[in-house]
Amino acid sequence: MTALHDISVGPIEACQICGSRNIEPVVDLGHQAPCDSLLTPSQLREAESTYPLRLVRCIDCSLAQIDYAVAPEVLFHREYPYRSGITETLRNNLRSTAFSIIDRFGLSEGSLAIDLGSNDGTLLSGFKDRGMRVLGVEPTDIAEIAREAGIDTRQAFFCEEVGREIAAERGKAAVVTAANMFAHVAQLGSLIRGVEHMLQPGGLFVTESHYLLDLLKTVQYDSIYHEHLKYYSLKTILKLFEYYDFTVVDVERIENYGGSIRVYAMLGRGHEAKPSVAAMLAEEQLARLEDASTYEAFAGRVRKSRVDLQMLILEAMANGHPVPGIGCPGRASTLISYCGLDAQAVPYIAEQSTSLKLGLHLPGKHIPIVDEARLLEEQPPKALMLSWHYWRPIVRNMRRKGLKSQIIVPLPDVTVAEE
Ligand SMILES: [Zn+2]
Repeated sequence: MTALHDISVGPIEACQICGSRNIEPVVDLGHQAPCDSLLTPSQLREAESTYPLRLVRCIDCSLAQIDYAVAPEVLFHREYPYRSGITETLRNNLRSTAFSIIDRFGLSEGSLAIDLGSNDGTLLSGFKDRGMRVLGVEPTDIAEIAREAGIDTRQAFFCEEVGREIAAERGKAAVVTAANMFAHVAQLGSLIRGVEHMLQPGGLFVTESHYLLDLLKTVQYDSIYHEHLKYYSLKTILKLFEYYDFTVVDVERIENYGGSIRVYAMLGRGHEAKPSVAAMLAEEQLARLEDASTYEAFAGRVRKSRVDLQMLILEAMANGHPVPGIGCPGRASTLISYCGLDAQAVPYIAEQSTSLKLGLHLPGKHIPIVDEARLLEEQPPKALMLSWHYWRPIVRNMRRKGLKSQIIVPLPDVTVAEE
């Protein structure tokens, strides 16, 4: 039954949770290169692959999802440039996640915490500080950075087999976390079965996923990219866990990535759920997450935001001033590509000097990623905030460094920041 949740590469013809073919399009972002496939200067003259990027929804179970799966080896290549410890906000969020989980469920010192997609080990360092044993599973070379920081990390794509091996080697875990990778996994059935093997009875599987309600409300079409196969509501996560030996016992909304949900699933059926679960379901119903009109309104706002942004940037260009970008999260690629912004419009994207992305170029439009020193030196009249979901702290920080440019915040509605 649960082979249903192991998605093959290529077009996805059926709902990724319930298997229904009753799916309808929401918004088409065109063919795009995988957003983290940043290019080195020598790659700029080579051919690039693009893949369909389209948000669809299942009429039967209401899951929002994309309808094309790119091979994981293409998406999560070994040199994947994303490093979770790198922004202070994210680092703090991840560490406080560990403390919050420990306190919420009274996890004891010496018990085992495993993080899937553990990146540089930031989340696990929180568990470790509170006396728990930790193990990370991370497919990319960032595993090495984690090991150097003293976080035991296994470099692998997590799957059922790896879960079995870890359980045999390390014993059962009190908690397994999957922070912001849960929606990325094509072989989701294999992943959840792997987690079932690793957990002790009553053990917790804690997932974080970008939350559909936030995505719709704040028009975060730029968080739609090939890594994100599914866009969960609580309702669709509950539906998913019905196929496995888990009870969803608690849920909370968190601010990560512009709005996410953290869902606590306990191994075994029939555990008692906290009131948070029913409360959030009621809220989703109130927001009409199952109505076609909700998605039509979203698609309309997506199209409008594109036109508004293009107008503002064309106006700046007509005055002889292209508009550099600030911040280069994965989502920047979706926005730049969907809005058709090239290096004439956005001559470069500024990142802080510690970024692993410096010297690379966006796929498709080939916009270079440079040290923010250039932006501070040039002081263009306007700059485009691509990390708009964190724009306030970033702008405050840039102002401290002396940036005078006006800041365009592209979403949820195109505005010029007052700060
Ligand atoms: Zn469905």
